[in-house]
Amino acid sequence: MASSATEAAFGPRAADTTGLAPMKSLESVDFYTLVESIPAPVVVTTAAGEVEAANKSIQEYFGKTAEELKDWAKGDWIHPDDLPRAVAKWRHAVETGRPYENESRHLRHDGVFRWVQVRVFPLKDSNGRVSRWLLLQTDVHDQKQAEEALSASERNLSQIINTIPALAWSARPDGSADFFNKHYLDYVGLSAEQCMDGGWTAAVYPDDLNGLIGAWRFMLDSDQAGECEARLRRFDGTYRWFLFRTNPLRDETGKTVKWYGTNIDIEDRKQAVEELRRSEAFLAQGQRLNLTGTFLWRLDTDEITFSKQLFRIFEFEPDVPVTLERISRRVHPEDVQILSGKVDLARNGIEEQDYEIRLRMPNGAIKYLRTKSFGFRGEDGRLEHIGAIQDVTERRLSEETLANLRSELAHVTRVTSLGVLAASIAHEVNQPLAAIFTNGETSLRWLDRPEPDIAKIRELTKRVVDDARRASDIVHRIRDLVTQQPPRQTLLSVNDVVKESIGFPRHEFQVSSIAVALDLAPELPGVLGDRTQLQQVIVNLATNAAQAMAQSKAARRNILVRTALSDPTTISCTIEDSGPGVAPTHLPRLFDSFFTTKETGMGMGLPISRSIVEAHGGHIRADNDSVLGGARFTFTLPSSGATTP
Ligand code: ADP
Repeated sequence: MASSATEAAFGPRAADTTGLAPMKSLESVDFYTLVESIPAPVVVTTAAGEVEAANKSIQEYFGKTAEELKDWAKGDWIHPDDLPRAVAKWRHAVETGRPYENESRHLRHDGVFRWVQVRVFPLKDSNGRVSRWLLLQTDVHDQKQAEEALSASERNLSQIINTIPALAWSARPDGSADFFNKHYLDYVGLSAEQCMDGGWTAAVYPDDLNGLIGAWRFMLDSDQAGECEARLRRFDGTYRWFLFRTNPLRDETGKTVKWYGTNIDIEDRKQAVEELRRSEAFLAQGQRLNLTGTFLWRLDTDEITFSKQLFRIFEFEPDVPVTLERISRRVHPEDVQILSGKVDLARNGIEEQDYEIRLRMPNGAIKYLRTKSFGFRGEDGRLEHIGAIQDVTERRLSEETLANLRSELAHVTRVTSLGVLAASIAHEVNQPLAAIFTNGETSLRWLDRPEPDIAKIRELTKRVVDDARRASDIVHRIRDLVTQQPPRQTLLSVNDVVKESIGFPRHEFQVSSIAVALDLAPELPGVLGDRTQLQQVIVNLATNAAQAMAQSKAARRNILVRTALSDPTTISCTIEDSGPGVAPTHLPRLFDSFFTTKETGMGMGLPISRSIVEAHGGHIRADNDSVLGGARFTFTLPSSGATTP
């Protein structure tokens, strides 16, 4: 079928064995034989481009007869996308007589388009004219696909190199850089040309450069992979830490032919490590400062981890493993039971513990430890106890010291209160005792007279009895005052109390030639209070006034006692003198216990007076505004609102 088709196309065959159709213009059968023997698809055309012959190989390739192949330009067995170019090139060749090559897709006999290379060259006669064209077709499909695959894989590789999240580079065996991936260039903001050879060093932090170059030199010299850390400048000027890692590529003889490297950004990791280091240091310092150590105890293996501070607290050598046994030996013998009890509780699932235990150190010193721990299951499901142990020895000792101090203080207070009581009594009963003494002596003198005046003696004796009773009352009242009992409440007339009180030290007044004047407001409301105590206040103030004037040897010695309703609810009483007054520097301390300027003074009169007045809800003050030129003492008392009987 094929041969008859060939025959039809090219005329009768010269020799059947060739498989080639005999050609009209054929000059030599050998030529056809030659063409037929070419183990590749071949077509022969006339100088004008008409197909003359098509060898078996090409007929088989297309599954077409030589006749059918004649119209190749019209047939659909050249891929429509490639046909115009194939036709154009062919025409151009025929016109110019120039050989050419072209690649196009041809439809193989099995219906598959495959890439072929068509090489076209002219056969020339002895005059140099084109006599025929020879078209040689080579199937390059597989090769082309392999090339495509190769370039695709190269594309892929370069994509990988440029997208890996690291700065990648390569260098020649002598260490001079010859490639930087896109990431690298984008990161440092430099072009590949700028980075080449030593240019990349411009982006290294100056202080890190020597170290980096040194490390790189070492890797090159030792011909070994290596790594080094250094800071690299980002395009925006920020420096970040990078890990530079290199690896040599060796040929089959083991010779390094290339170096490959990556720079990995470790800034965040470095900062995290730094942060961790700082927080660890912080924690350790914290433990040191608050004398607290931490521990972890794995209950199944009894593995115990102590923090450094805990080693210090227990005074354990740092490198010897901590065991329960070792801890027990350090615990105070009396507390070992407590510890083993706590260990048992933990083993029985008690999760939270809070207890105190004592240690006995090798030098015999005792330490008090407060332990707080709680149990939990670790990631591997094992039961663990984590806890904090605080050395509370100092606190314990200071608590003890404080307790001792407290009891000492209580004792001192008791003693002091007794002292104040004694001093107060001594001070206050002094005046009635002096009066008793004077009146007793006087009545004795009256009794010694040849004719004793019984009436006078009775009066003097009555005064002795009154003063003795008053002294006894004073003792009771002072005890009340010191033990902070509220004053006894009787409705009193302040004017009456003044008049009574001024009579008690009358002997002192006489001796010191002191004139006492009273200026008492009429119809004052009464006050609720303790008569004896209020008498004491007036006696104290009047006696002080007398003593101040006696001491200063003042020629004119006057005391003026006034009462007034200073406001509707307050009654005031003022005792003034013509003495030297109070030194301004003494004024603030006048009412302090034991403050005195007198040689034999006790410094109790004014503090007792203030205690009494304040216990009655009033106030007392001192100044030098006396109309008589000396000191002025004023005390107030709340009025009861009622008039006195
Ligand atoms: P004492 O009389 O034992 O010294 P007081 O408490 O009664 O204790 O008085 C304290 C001090 O107040 C006196 O030592 C004195 O310096 C001063 N003082 C009290 N009253 C007067 C006064 N009328 N004039 C001047 N100084 C006074």
